Amino acid sequence: MIYPIVKYGDPVLETKAAPVTDFDEKLQKLVEDMFESMYEAQGVGLAAPQIGISLQLAVIDTTFKEDPTAKLVLANPVILSMEGKQAGQEGCLSVPEFRENLARARTVSIRAQDVHGNWYEKTGEDLLARAFQHEIDHLHGKLYIHHLSSLKRDLIKRKIRRLQRHGEW
Ligand SMILES: [Zn+2]
Repeated sequence: MIYPIVKYGDPVLETKAAPVTDFDEKLQKLVEDMFESMYEAQGVGLAAPQIGISLQLAVIDTTFKEDPTAKLVLANPVILSMEGKQAGQEGCLSVPEFRENLARARTVSIRAQDVHGNWYEKTGEDLLARAFQHEIDHLHGKLYIHHLSSLKRDLIKRKIRRLQRHGEW
């Protein structure tokens, strides 16, 4: 099942998500649906709040279907360490049509549970490091635009409000 992506303005995106506790068949189906919804939206990462489900769950595939072993499920993830710095543009499926330069850590290590509840640790660099930071932020009710200068963020919010008034958001 493909879920519609929740857009900025919906309070679920700015709410801290609840931990995943049941690693059952329902969760497996949800994870499958999240991958499907992410690919459909042309994304490389998707957090459950972005489909309106306030759970600490995210999926990532920075190879976009090229490497099946690159598919990652992050349940209850925590960042263990962040190192270095990378420049680059960042966007978000919930803030469509905007992309901004945003500095992030270059190397990020996380600890998370997979779809069966098994804990694992993984270190990502560059795009994967950026995806870890972006998706884990989502689970804490934080969007990438919260990291921008208030001037830039206000500009984006104003443009979004204009789109909302015209029913285009
Ligand atoms: Zn996002």
